[in-house]
Amino acid sequence: MLESSVLSACPHDCPDTCVMITTVRDGVAVKVRGNPDHPFTRGGLCVKVNDYEHRVYSSDRILQPLRRIGPKGSGSFETISWDAALAEIKTRWTAIIDESGPAAILPYSYLGTQGTLNGLSVGDAFFNKLGATISERTFCDSGAITAFFMTCGPTAAIDPESFVHSRFIVLWAINSISTNLHHWPFIAEAQRRGAKVVVIDPVTTRTAKAADWHINLRPGTDAALALGMINVIIAEDLIDHDYVERYTVGFEDLKARAAAFPPARVAEITGVAEDDLLALARGFATTQPSVIRMGVAIERSASGGNAVRALSCLPALVGSWRHCGGGIMHMPIWAFPVRWDALSRPDWIKPGTPVVNQWRLGQALTGELGLATPIRSLMVYNSNPIVVAPEQAKLEQGLSREDLFTVVSEQFLTDTARFADIVLPATTQLEQFDVMFSWGHLYLTLNEPAIAPLGEAVPNTELFRRLARTMGFDDPYWAMTDEDMAQMAFDWTSPALEGIDLATLRAKGYARLNVGSADDFVPHREGNSPTPSGKCEFKSSIAAGGNMVLPLFRQGYMGGQSGEALDPLPDYLPARESPQTNPQLASRYPLGMLSPKSHAFLNSSYGNLRKQLHHAGEQKVLINPADALTRGIAAGDVVRVYNDRGSFDAAADVSADTMAGIVVAPMGYWARR
Ligand code: SF4
Repeated sequence: MLESSVLSACPHDCPDTCVMITTVRDGVAVKVRGNPDHPFTRGGLCVKVNDYEHRVYSSDRILQPLRRIGPKGSGSFETISWDAALAEIKTRWTAIIDESGPAAILPYSYLGTQGTLNGLSVGDAFFNKLGATISERTFCDSGAITAFFMTCGPTAAIDPESFVHSRFIVLWAINSISTNLHHWPFIAEAQRRGAKVVVIDPVTTRTAKAADWHINLRPGTDAALALGMINVIIAEDLIDHDYVERYTVGFEDLKARAAAFPPARVAEITGVAEDDLLALARGFATTQPSVIRMGVAIERSASGGNAVRALSCLPALVGSWRHCGGGIMHMPIWAFPVRWDALSRPDWIKPGTPVVNQWRLGQALTGELGLATPIRSLMVYNSNPIVVAPEQAKLEQGLSREDLFTVVSEQFLTDTARFADIVLPATTQLEQFDVMFSWGHLYLTLNEPAIAPLGEAVPNTELFRRLARTMGFDDPYWAMTDEDMAQMAFDWTSPALEGIDLATLRAKGYARLNVGSADDFVPHREGNSPTPSGKCEFKSSIAAGGNMVLPLFRQGYMGGQSGEALDPLPDYLPARESPQTNPQLASRYPLGMLSPKSHAFLNSSYGNLRKQLHHAGEQKVLINPADALTRGIAAGDVVRVYNDRGSFDAAADVSADTMAGIVVAPMGYWARR
C-alpha cells in the first residue's frame, strides 16, 4: 500500500483560505484535514469542507463531456468525447461570429474556485482574444474596495492575527463564526484578555450571541451610524489631533459632513438608541487599540460604499492605526503581488467591446437590456447563476431560448448546467495545481494535485488551452504549463515575496508574506497610506478627479474606467427600495429580506451534497414574532416568500433573532437537488 500526504488548500471563496493536507492511499484521496501547523488554519476545516473527499468522489460528479438531448432545463444529456464537444463549440461559435460578431458571445464566471490560476481571471485572456462581450464582475466587494481605496488606498491595513492585541473590536456586518471561522479564535483570545467585542448586525447571529454587546441596526443604514460616530467623536473632541494633522486630509470637510448626523437623527434612521451610539463612539475612540472588522455584507445597499468610506475614516480620526491590533480590516489581499493583468490580458480587449454587468444576465439573455449585439451564446464556468444571480425567473426564461447556445463547465449538474447545450467536466481542487492568495490572512499557499483528474475532467487552465487551440489561437500564452503560469502570475521580485518561491512553497505548503510578524504589523503607524496624497483621505482626491481607475472586477481585480464623479465625502443614502425612496413598492412589500451566507454552503457550492444539506436543514425563513402574528404564521409553517422578481417556499422560523420588518433566508439552496 502506497500512502502519501499532499499539501493542499481550500479552493473556496472564503477569507480563511485554509491550508489542508490530503492523505492519498494507492492513488485515492482518503482524507482531507486542516494543516495543524498553519497559524491561521490550526488544523481545523469547516463543516462545508471537512469531508471534501466525498465531494471529489461523489457519484454525481460530471466526468465526461455531455450534449443535451432533451428540452432545455430537463437535465437530459448524452455523453460525448472532448473532440466532439470542442468541434460543436467551434462550429457554433464560428457561425455566430460570422453572422453577428464575437460580441454575441458572453462569458460568465466568478469565484467558484479561488485559485490564482483557475479562479477569477481564468478565461479572461481567451475571451479577450475572441472579442467576446466583457462580463463585469461586481457581485461582491467592487463597491467596498473602491470605497476603501478612496480613503485608505490598496493596503493590507491590519493582520487578522494582530486582533489578539485589540482591546475594542467591532465586528460590523460579519457573522465571523459562520463565515470567517478561523478568525474567531484570535477575537476570542482578545476577549479573554479583556477586549470588548461588539457586533453590529440586524440579525442576532451566532457571533452576536458570543459578543459582549450586540447592536441591532436597520439594514442599509450603516453609513448613518458610522457618520454618527464621527459626529460624536468630533463633538466630544475624542480625536487624535496629531494623527489627524500629520496623516490625514479633509478633516474640516468631514467635520462639516458629519455635523448633519447628530445622535437624534442617527437614532431615527438606524434604530440605534442615542445612548448606544454615544457609548459606541466613546468606546471606539478611547479604548485603544480599537479595530473594526468589516464584512462583505456592508456594501449590499445603495449606501454601502459610503458606509465603507465613513468607517474607514474612524481609525485615523482616533489614532487606532498607531497600535498593533488597531485600525480597520477590509481584506488583506492587497499584500499579495498578483499580476492580474498578465493573467487576464486586458491589452487584448478591442476598443468598443461591450460590457454586461453580471447582475443583468437575465435582462441580457431575455433581450430586455437592448444590447446592440444580442447575446447568442453564453459560456458559464466557476459559477451557478441560476442560484446566485438576481431575477431567477428571467434567467430561466433566457436560458430556455432555443437559439441560445450555452456551454457550462462544471463539477456537478447545477441548476444552470441543466440548461446547457454542452457541459464540460471540471476538476476539483484535489485534481489540479494552483497557488492561493487569501483575502483573509497573509499566507501564500500551494495546492498540489493530490490525485489524477477523475474521468475526463480538466482544470480551468487546461479547458481554456483546449478552447484556444480549437479556435486557432497560437499565442505563447496558451503554451504555458500551470507552473509557467504560476511563475507569471506573481511578482516574485516583490519585497512581500522575498525568500518565497515555488520550491519553498513545495517544502512546507505555505509561506507567510514577508511583511513582519503579527505582533508588530503596524503599517500605518506613521500614515503611509497608499493614496494619491500618501495620507488617509477623509476627502477623496480620486473621487473629485472624476475619472478614476476602479476595481471593477471586469478583468481580475483592477481595471475599467469610470468618468463619473463621486461625492468626495462619505454620506448616507437611503436604500433604493426603502419606504423613503419608494413608498408605493414598500406598501406592497412591507418586509425586507436579508439573504446571508449559510453555515453549511459556500455560496451555491454544496447545495446538492447530502451531508451539507442535512447540516443546513430545509430552506427556512426567519421571521419576527410580531410579523408572524399579523400574518397568522406559526413556527414550521411553509410560507411563500416573493416579490416581483421571484419566489421560493420556506419553513417559517419564528424568532426575535430578527427585527420586525426584516426576514432572513440563507442563500445557496439549489432549486433542484
Ligand atoms: S470554506 Fe473557508 S473555513 Fe471552510 S475549509 Fe474552506 S477556507 Fe476553511
